Amino acid sequence: MTAEGSFSTALDMEKIRKSGMLLAIGEVKYTDEIAMITRKKDTAQVFATGSVRVRASSKADAGKLLKDTENSIRRALGCTGCGVCIGKCPHNAIRIENKIAYIGDKCTHCGKCIEVCPVVKFVRD
Ligand code: SF4
Ligand code: SF4
Repeated sequence: MTAEGSFSTALDMEKIRKSGMLLAIGEVKYTDEIAMITRKKDTAQVFATGSVRVRASSKADAGKLLKDTENSIRRALGCTGCGVCIGKCPHNAIRIENKIAYIGDKCTHCGKCIEVCPVVKFVRD
């Protein structure tokens, strides 16, 4: 199954890459224009144009992966440095620098820090 979403503006891919926020979803590879995320057998692509495409084994998984990907982009671009996500991470993988959160290499892609983030919690689908 596939699912697609889009943001109304182009995405700052460098800011997204530096934040590490897509690691909350899965393994990530970047080019200048695309981020490719792999979660088990499912994949998500984030394009600098603002498009997001996912491919998953079921409709439910595709919907969840699309939502997690869009929310992780929102975190990467809209983090206020509140620190709420730090308390949810069981692996101490999130740090705050200059009021912005960064996810580092210790991340196991468990996703526990995504939906607690105020930046995504109050977004209406
Ligand atoms: S809670 Fe920690 S380990 Fe889990 S996805 Fe977030 S940063 Fe990664
Ligand atoms: S919970 Fe707070 S610190 Fe963590 S990503 Fe969201 S806004 Fe940033």
